[in-house]
Amino acid sequence: MEALETSSPAETEALGARIAERLGPGDVVLLSGDLGTGKTTLVRGACRGLGFEDPVTSPTFTIGQRYEGGRLPVSHLDLYRLQTLEGEDPALLDDYLRPEGVAFIEWPGAGEGRLGRPALEVRLAHVDEERRRIEVDW
Ligand code: ADP
Ligand code: MG
Repeated sequence: MEALETSSPAETEALGARIAERLGPGDVVLLSGDLGTGKTTLVRGACRGLGFEDPVTSPTFTIGQRYEGGRLPVSHLDLYRLQTLEGEDPALLDDYLRPEGVAFIEWPGAGEGRLGRPALEVRLAHVDEERRRIEVDW
């Protein structure tokens, strides 16, 4: 486990890029932490690190987004609005959990048991307005 503190969104993006360097096809990364701790910011940095330059924002009308055109295809899921996957289409996650790509999952709780074994887990917490404590289980 590595624990560090970032002092700006740019530093959190840089950590995301460093994480992305280690990822390969099929890897799943779980991101936990309160709203505003920087989960989406970290995913943006990972996408930049993989060479994807288009905007990376929170998925809004769907549970996820896919970004193509970088070193690896990236899926970005946010399961915040789902309490559980029970009653959802069993194929819901299939478009996102692709063996050829990497997947970053914010609020993974609802997907428990359906997300495979994560390649790594990241926990983010507020320290103050600009600082975040981030733990990475490599
Ligand atoms: P989450 O996805 O966890 O809800 P976001 O990445 O969407 O969080 O938002 C994080 C917010 O906090 C952004 O407005 C960002 O500018 C701000 N912020 C301030 N300091 C940091 C930091 N050190 N790391 C990441 N984000 C930060
Ligand atoms: Mg987010």
